[in-house]
Amino acid sequence: MIYDVAIVGTGPAGLAAALTLKLHNKEIIWFGSAELSDKVGKSEKIANYPGVPMVSGADLNAAFAAQAKEMELEPKNARVTNIADLGDKFMVLADNEMYEARALLLATGTAAAKGMEGEAEMLGRGVSYCATCDGFLYKGKTVAVYCTDERMEHDIKYLEEICGKVYIYTNFGYEQASESSEVLASPLKKLSGGLKCDSAELFDGTKLDVDGVFILRPAIAPSTLFPGLETDGAHIKVSRNQETNYKGCFAAGDCTGRPYQIAKAVGEGNVAAHAILEYLG
Ligand SMILES: Cc1cc2nc3c(=O)[nH]c(=O)nc-3n(C[C@H](O)[C@H](O)[C@H](O)COP(=O)(O)OP(=O)(O)OC[C@H]3O[C@@H](n4cnc5c(N)ncnc54)[C@H](O)[C@@H]3O)c2cc1C
Repeated sequence: MIYDVAIVGTGPAGLAAALTLKLHNKEIIWFGSAELSDKVGKSEKIANYPGVPMVSGADLNAAFAAQAKEMELEPKNARVTNIADLGDKFMVLADNEMYEARALLLATGTAAAKGMEGEAEMLGRGVSYCATCDGFLYKGKTVAVYCTDERMEHDIKYLEEICGKVYIYTNFGYEQASESSEVLASPLKKLSGGLKCDSAELFDGTKLDVDGVFILRPAIAPSTLFPGLETDGAHIKVSRNQETNYKGCFAAGDCTGRPYQIAKAVGEGNVAAHAILEYLG
């Protein structure tokens, strides 16, 4: 099936766009998480979102979720790891499944984490963002895992099941599940190798010989997610209509730049939805 629109991101920007597109009966695939936005959820008090006086982030997220449910919008709980432009449509890879859509909206929030040294160069050459997709390539082999999202713990466990040795760094106190695994105290700093990544250096100077490295973060830099996407630093370059340099691909919310605010994200999501409707004709 080819969807009309694929939306990546379940924060306020993605939701605002999804609501408008749904009202116009578009077939949408909406990637993100059932909790919608971590960032909104973490805000203690929000005082500047019109119509909802002094609300906790958790309550606002719950209201967003209720509105999505009412409109029969159900997020696909999957992490998008790669996007490609196929000319008249886009290919979106999420949790090892491929989806196609005529138009695309990136509403991924900010990718706070700066990539580690060598990460971009080695991506696809022994460095992966998706254990479910690429884990089987490292059956019985040695890999290093860098994980900053507790929700991806199951991915580490999966790698521990199938790999020979797994070096694990997390920022949330992970307990190894296999005797042959090793939890690292120091984060990964630099990845290197020739045709394939074969070395991971830690901040404490230790060098690990590896066959592969899995980087499991909640957000992936837009230019890595969608190679060729024009960015300005960490932000996606957009026009007043939220268009990116790829025809049919739009972006909205924190991923397009400051100010990082819910009202701005919602506004841009709405503008993008209208531009997408015009694009789809
Ligand atoms: C502590 C805190 C307090 C704040 N207080 C306020 C405030 O008082 N007022 C205010 O206006 N703003 C506030 N903000 C900012 C506000 O939360 C953000 O501006 C807003 O959430 C941005 O919305 P967004 O939709 O662009 O991105 P986000 O809300 O970050 O949502 C992005 C979504 O995309 C998903 N995603 C990202 N990459 C992928 C991928 N590859 N595959 C699938 N899904 C993906 C994420 O999981 C997330 O669900 C606060 C933020 C924080 C952290």
